[in-house]
Amino acid sequence: MKAVVFHGVGDIRLDDVPEPKIQEPTDAIVRLTSSAICGTDLHMIRGTLSGMKEGTILGHEGVGTVEEVGPQVRNLNPGDRVVVGSTVGCGYCSYCRAGYYAQCDNANPNGPQAGTAFFGGPEATGPIDGMQAEYVRVPYASVTCVKLPEQVSDEQAIMISDIFPTGYFGADIADVSDGDSVAVFGCGPVGQFAITSAFIMGASRVVAVDRLPDRLEMARAQGAQVVNFDEEDPVGTIQELTGGIGVDRVIEAVGVDAESTEPSEQFDKETAEVAPETNPQGDNWHPGGAPSQSAQWATQAVCKAGTIGVIGVFPPQAMRFPIGALQQRNLTVRGGNCNHRRYIPKLVGLVATGALDPTEILTQREPVTSVIEAYETFDQRKPGWTKVELLPEAS
Ligand SMILES: [Zn+2]
Ligand SMILES: [Zn+2]
Repeated sequence: MKAVVFHGVGDIRLDDVPEPKIQEPTDAIVRLTSSAICGTDLHMIRGTLSGMKEGTILGHEGVGTVEEVGPQVRNLNPGDRVVVGSTVGCGYCSYCRAGYYAQCDNANPNGPQAGTAFFGGPEATGPIDGMQAEYVRVPYASVTCVKLPEQVSDEQAIMISDIFPTGYFGADIADVSDGDSVAVFGCGPVGQFAITSAFIMGASRVVAVDRLPDRLEMARAQGAQVVNFDEEDPVGTIQELTGGIGVDRVIEAVGVDAESTEPSEQFDKETAEVAPETNPQGDNWHPGGAPSQSAQWATQAVCKAGTIGVIGVFPPQAMRFPIGALQQRNLTVRGGNCNHRRYIPKLVGLVATGALDPTEILTQREPVTSVIEAYETFDQRKPGWTKVELLPEAS
């Protein structure tokens, strides 16, 4: 089958690889009918999230049809349409049962302390071959796959594989509730869904902060009040919009990208040393560096005793956070990898009602055969390229 394979920092290829097989009784094989490129994929290709193993198939967002199930997958049949959650959880350990699927004790083959297990990620996350491929092996499939009703299209469902639940998770951990004012830093696809989710949870107003006009326009279309940080000081503007109080809740949806707001040249191997490990200046996630810009803004824009939810992706070695502000202003900060399975059934149900259409965030539909070009264009942040769906070759 064709699959997008990681060969090294800045080197991905559309290769011919063997089709996956059932390995455990809890596995299923899914034939993908839709997948997507995510900002997280760029972190791994750039090397800002290090430790990718050569040969790993990329992609952690997928929708498809169940092809085959192991004997312990008792809730799915071949032919079922499913959305596959990005992270893998067993469904029965204490963490999964408490809703912390991203902290599952069993899903990561490297052990219970190894961290979140997800598709198409670094070696420490499995590695579990990803979904930019024709077929995928889904571990703990009875939990990781969620059946789709007819009313939810593939295109809608692909947004529910990762980015919508992640945005929803951000609003959830930021404690957004009725009447709250909310600021969302970072208006990429996940930030857009954080805006959507904040409104679903009852936010009275949402301030969206970014520098890219097309993303701000999308946020404005959702009803957010937009702030371009290239043109004005976002903290000052938020203070002004809130009578000097600040917002009740902040959702940080920027992450490590705050440090690399210019398009990278990661497709050129020569520039691989821009990876954080080798930055001699000290950087924003090691001792000696300043806190990330978005973390500083978040702690300044939030009101006293407010809450910040951090869903932007940072490397595990990120060390700096404005802890003084946190202590002095009685702030609550929560972060995490999204517990996808906790939210996916709810969001599938919500989309099925027709109350909202998540494809409004989708800007590109590309055949998987032109995936390398799609990655390059996405990486350059060409205006209008917010979210890219990958479609199988027409057969
Ligand atoms: Zn993603
Ligand atoms: Zn578990």
